[in-house]
Amino acid sequence: MKIIEVIDLKKNFSITTPVLEIEKAVVKAVNGVSFHINQGETLGLVGESGSGKTTTGKLLLRLLEPTSGKVLLEGRDISKIKDREFRKIRKDLQVVFQNPYSALDPKMTIEDIMTQPLTIHKIVPPLEFKKEVVRLLNLVGLSAKDAKKFPHEFSGGQRQRIGIARAIATKPKFIVCDEPVSALDVSIQSQILNLLMELQREFKLSYLFIAHGLNVIKHVSNRVAVMYLGKIVEMGDAETIFNEPKHPYTQALMSASTVPDPNIKRERIRLRDEIPSPINLPKGCAFHTRCQYCMDVCKIEEPPLITVEDYCVSCHLVKESIATST
Ligand code: SF4
Repeated sequence: MKIIEVIDLKKNFSITTPVLEIEKAVVKAVNGVSFHINQGETLGLVGESGSGKTTTGKLLLRLLEPTSGKVLLEGRDISKIKDREFRKIRKDLQVVFQNPYSALDPKMTIEDIMTQPLTIHKIVPPLEFKKEVVRLLNLVGLSAKDAKKFPHEFSGGQRQRIGIARAIATKPKFIVCDEPVSALDVSIQSQILNLLMELQREFKLSYLFIAHGLNVIKHVSNRVAVMYLGKIVEMGDAETIFNEPKHPYTQALMSASTVPDPNIKRERIRLRDEIPSPINLPKGCAFHTRCQYCMDVCKIEEPPLITVEDYCVSCHLVKESIATST
């Protein structure tokens, strides 16, 4: 069952002159993205900074208005509904932020922080707030006595547990996990990832998991989408993407990830240049300025996104092989 479906989603940002606000340029941050996430599933979203991952997450949560396209929550288009209508389903969509410290108000106790979503969304009657806060803290591995403390009294990992407890307080269906472990020590990261997966199993949660770290994505994802300059260039089940990446950009990202088995030697593919500016997207394939396999056609013609069942890729090089193998 599809919890979230995204159809041809686009988000442009205008760059205007200071006083007259005349449009100088348009940044195509998200440029025609489509995917879905099933109930209880995690879609990992990877790509360099500037690829549009976080903007995509914000569009799904309606923290940003899309320029065009649709976001469906259980089949209902939520991208254009009125704010008053959206407030009723806001509780179904939650987020776990990258920085657990800045995400928690330092002047509030944990109990007050946790009570806010319970109050706003009327999750339990006021008389049950205290009991519910303790239940949520226990779910994330904290105790009742932690409710009276302030955020600064916790470690980074504990603060992220509180952030997760707050996210699940509204009994959501879908959570955007935006780099939730990248600010934590490596020793703590796996504890938080395991907690997120336990909660997913228990409550059938669906996650969009945004991360730079491929090992993190591999650990948690059922499927993986690779973004480059606002577009998905390859998407498929995690095993296929990690073991047999077909797009040259995915291959370069995978080559930079660590391999746990010392007997496996992976040749590092070094990308030339920086990611181009999304203000001035390269013609043809947006990756052609950095691709070691670039052909003449790549500089002129944008490769179509070829879809075969749950797998898709956008590259002239692999277009032929996919077409002939099916
Ligand atoms: Fe490289 Fe061409 Fe494929 Fe783009 S379309 S990734 S430039 S081979």
